Amino acid sequence: AKDLGRNSYQLYTAAMNARSFERLTMESSLRHALTREEFRLVYQVKVDSEDGRMSGVEALVRWHHPEMGLVSPVDFIPLAEAMGVISDIGEWVLRTACRQCKHWMDLGLPPVRIAVNVSAQQFVETDVPEVVARALRETGLPPQYLELELTETVLMQRVDEVVAVLKSLRAMGVRISIDDFGTGYSSLSYLKRMPIDALKVDRSFVNDIFDGQSKVTEDGAEIVSTIINLAHNLKLKAIAEGVETPEQAEFLRSKGCDEVQGYLISRPVSGEDLISLFDRNLLP
Ligand code: C2E
Ligand code: CA
Ligand code: CA
Ligand code: CA
Repeated sequence: AKDLGRNSYQLYTAAMNARSFERLTMESSLRHALTREEFRLVYQVKVDSEDGRMSGVEALVRWHHPEMGLVSPVDFIPLAEAMGVISDIGEWVLRTACRQCKHWMDLGLPPVRIAVNVSAQQFVETDVPEVVARALRETGLPPQYLELELTETVLMQRVDEVVAVLKSLRAMGVRISIDDFGTGYSSLSYLKRMPIDALKVDRSFVNDIFDGQSKVTEDGAEIVSTIINLAHNLKLKAIAEGVETPEQAEFLRSKGCDEVQGYLISRPVSGEDLISLFDRNLLP
């Protein structure tokens, strides 16, 4: 039993070492990823749930590591935050997304809004209105075509300061939506004070509307309807993400959800591939 204990201990440390080694390699390469131009953006459409036409686009970052291959933002964004490099990456994402959006306009495509994710860490670390103003100036994108997606974590910080920052962004014409709504712990009284434009119903809730047999689940459906109603009562738009089935899209439309986004409509695609998705009904 004693030997076994020691072996499992060694196994444990070996696994831990492998993991911290992996983390170390990832850390040192993440530090250089920007200058080595290893990041790319992909774009996922949001459509009007009534007519199925593109209403906006969300920019999502991808890291193409020369050896590790494609690294998910779920894995490297938290690391970038911990390393203090999220703001540099975030600024690159913002500028690249604005430039792409302006490029689609210059091609004569119908104008769409581009949504950019801003991490909570980035929000506290940097002067967001300043960075946004710079990106808009450098790319020539009119401010009304930019939307920032913030998580509830951002709202939970010093309220007065957050309100002031959001106000100055909206005064520029930029729109604000709350991402993954319902998964954090933002209080409803704070929410009412926030100068924002939309709530994004988290994918996990959309996923719970129906059970495996395509039957509406009472609780899941109720939660989604409640978030949509909450948004509308606060004069905000409701956007649902992670929509994968026609049943989910129809349910959301019937509850008045303004926009939907998910694999049903389109996976995230390159800026070039997005062009074919303009100007037509994308709902099945
Ligand atoms: P998110 O902002 O909630 O983005 C939605 C994620 O769900 C994306 O994953 C998207 O590809 C995925 N998705 C979209 N439709 C569906 C669907 O129908 N079904 C399923 N199962 N998934 C769907 P992705 O691109 O891997 O991004 C994951 C998270 O990483 C994002 O969650 C966001 O929190 C973060 N992230 C991505 N890009 C950026 C960025 O540029 N900056 C920051 N700060 N965070 C980012
Ligand atoms: Ca998002
Ligand atoms: Ca989201
Ligand atoms: Ca989410």
